[in-house]
Amino acid sequence: MWQGDCILIEDGSSAMLIDAGNPENGPDIVSYIKKLGINRLDFVIATHPHADHIGGMADVINAFDIGKLIMPKVEHTTRTFENLLLTIRNKGLKITAPVPGTEYRLGNTSFTILAPNSSSYKNLNDYSVVVRLTYGSTSFLFTGDAEQTSEKEILAKGYNIKSDVLKVGHHGSKTSTTTRFLDAVSPRYAVMCVGANNQYGHPAPETLSKLAERGIKVYRTDEAGTIIATSDGKSISFNKQPSPVNTSTNTGSTTVSDTKNNQNDTRDDITVYITKTGSKYHREGCSSLRTSSIPISLSEAKQRGYEPCKICKPPQ
Ligand SMILES: [Zn+2]
Ligand SMILES: [Zn+2]
Repeated sequence: MWQGDCILIEDGSSAMLIDAGNPENGPDIVSYIKKLGINRLDFVIATHPHADHIGGMADVINAFDIGKLIMPKVEHTTRTFENLLLTIRNKGLKITAPVPGTEYRLGNTSFTILAPNSSSYKNLNDYSVVVRLTYGSTSFLFTGDAEQTSEKEILAKGYNIKSDVLKVGHHGSKTSTTTRFLDAVSPRYAVMCVGANNQYGHPAPETLSKLAERGIKVYRTDEAGTIIATSDGKSISFNKQPSPVNTSTNTGSTTVSDTKNNQNDTRDDITVYITKTGSKYHREGCSSLRTSSIPISLSEAKQRGYEPCKICKPPQ
């Protein structure tokens, strides 16, 4: 049921973590990173104080040597957040506020902070630290839960946001991934952190169809589990298969929807017959139609709950 963001970036002996899922994910995240032989995280970014992003962060901070910790300047009155602040203080760590336009190096990779661009927002999600990371000629955009307000500000600043991979904002909700933003990013691949059967209805069908229309390959954690993207500096490969494209929402492939409509039309053209009192529908001339015979389209008969007659076996 849970959903959360947790992104580990590795470049040789350098590593960075963006978010740490929910509180109950902390131990798993720590052991996953340790198994990779990583003891130090050069950068840790807590995009914003929601529990599905900073939940396991206290465990991470306790378990690893931490370089720079980047967090937006915003408070949140939850135990999870207060516990994180306490952990940071106990470890003697300093918090670095994200300053848009700042570039950092991580091994041969570099990343630039693109948001937040305002000091106060109505919506906690818009405080999300957004970073664009480049390695060779490949690029990745990580948006946390940034929503349309932040997307608009990023566009207004004129940053280069064109990226091969987009970590879709706010778990694919329709309040993020505005058309203008998506077209400016123009990704080939989209990764969504979504919980299976999450109570928020993420991702939104609107977001999925926007991605499908543009032929963007979508990788979802609810379907694929842990997704690993590997860049050789020229191209990017994934450890999992992309999500199958749902053609019913894919308005980009008009031929598919046209065929479907035609099929519906032909089904509608089929006329069957019902009687005044019966619960079955029939072919023309069926012996059951002696007392009454009312023409009706096949689709309407089915819609109204009529069943095919067992004697004349009409089309279904
Ligand atoms: Zn979230
Ligand atoms: Zn959030």
